[in-house]
Parts: sequence; C-alpha cells; structure tokens
Amino acid sequence: MEPTGILLRALVFAAARHRDQRRKDALASPYINHPIAVATALWHEGDVRDPVALTAAILHDTIEDTGTTEAELAAAFGAEIAAVVVEVTDDKSLPKLRRKELQIEHAPHLSPAAKLVKLADKLCNLRDIIDAPPAAWPHERRAAYVAWTRDVVAGLRGACPPLEAAFDAEQARWAAAAAGA
Ligand code: NDP
Ligand code: ZN
Repeated sequence: MEPTGILLRALVFAAARHRDQRRKDALASPYINHPIAVATALWHEGDVRDPVALTAAILHDTIEDTGTTEAELAAAFGAEIAAVVVEVTDDKSLPKLRRKELQIEHAPHLSPAAKLVKLADKLCNLRDIIDAPPAAWPHERRAAYVAWTRDVVAGLRGACPPLEAAFDAEQARWAAAAAGA
C-alpha cells in the first residue's frame, strides 16, 4: 500500500489502542499526542522520509503500553514495521532499573529505523520533562530522567545528526533552566 495510506491506518490503530490512556503531565494530555509528536519530529526536524520509521513511530508504544502483539502489527502493517516496534519495546517482565540499563546497552545495536524512532522518542520525552513534566515528579527525578536520556542517546549518535542537534539543544535548555532555578 502507498506510504501515506499505511501511516493513516497506523494513526487510526494507535489512537484506538491508546484511547483510554493519558500522558503523565498535569493536564493529562491524550496519549496519542506523543506518538504523533515523535513521527512529526522525525519528518520535520530529522528530515526522515522512511515510511517504515515514520509508521513505527506512530505505533512505537502500542506493544509496551497497550498489550498489542507483534503478530497483530505484522498482520496490519507488515513484518518490517512490526519488528521495529519490537526493537523499541521494553521487556516489562524485568525490573524498571534493569529496563533502563538495557536501553543504554541496546541502543548502539538497534537497526537504523529503530535508532531513529528511539532518538525521536527521547527528544519528545525530554521536551515533555521540560515543558509538561509528570505532575508529581520533584526536580531530582526530572534531572535523573534527563541524564538517562543522554546516556541512551550516546549510543544512537550518527543515526540522524539534525535530530541529535535538536536533542542537544533541549539538553542545553534544561541545563539553563536548572542553573536558573
Ligand atoms: P518512568 O519510566 O516511570 O516515566 C517516564 C516515562 O513516562 C517516559 O519515558 C515516557 O515514556 C512516559 N511519559 C508519560 N508522560 C510523560 C511526560 N509528561 N513527560 C515525560 N515522560 C512521560 O520514569 P523513571 O522511572 O525513569 O523515572 C525517571 C528517573 O527518576 C529514573 O531514571 C530514576 O533514576 C529516578 N527515580 C525513579 C523512581 C521510580 O520509582 N521509578 C523513584 C525516584 C527516582 P513513553 O515514551 O514510553 O510514554
Ligand atoms: Zn514513547
């Protein structure tokens, strides 16, 4: 199918799967805003035109957060897109700290498309931590999250220089705000 058609089907699919979920910010934004932001960052800031990466970005949290299976994604969107989503999915049977460590360890070994999705995801979550953070998080927890995104992105460098520059600009914005706090 034509890439725009697949992307639109992915939007419908992800919106349905995330329909009852909210982000953790004070306004409890609709969850689907986040995958849309990740795909938009890839297109507009990363100049990414790969339909597999763009579609996987829309679907990137469906397995981890909605119980969607790889088989469902493969049937609807093809094995290639499903495999990228699996690559960016944490193993939720592991303790949270180990999952965080594994993201750092796995980052350099991801496929090119999965690196793009992971990088845009970290960029968007960093922006959320600065502009619309989880309501109950104290500064220290936000700072720990920001530092962790830096460690994950260190293993993704070279995948998409313009997105890396955008990420570095957000890290600088965080540091400036923290210094002024
Ligand atoms: P979580 O994994 O619990 O939450 C962060 C994730 O929530 C993001 O990766 C993002 O994932 C999603 N998310 C939803 N809404 C938002 C939003 N508005 N802004 C940002 N992210 C959002 O966080 P951590 O457990 O990693 O906590 C951060 C740091 O704080 C850790 O590195 C840890 O060292 C420290 N800490 C953790 C504690 C804990 O109990 N876990 C307690 C004290 C400190 P997605 O893209 O998948 O939606
Ligand atoms: Zn995400």
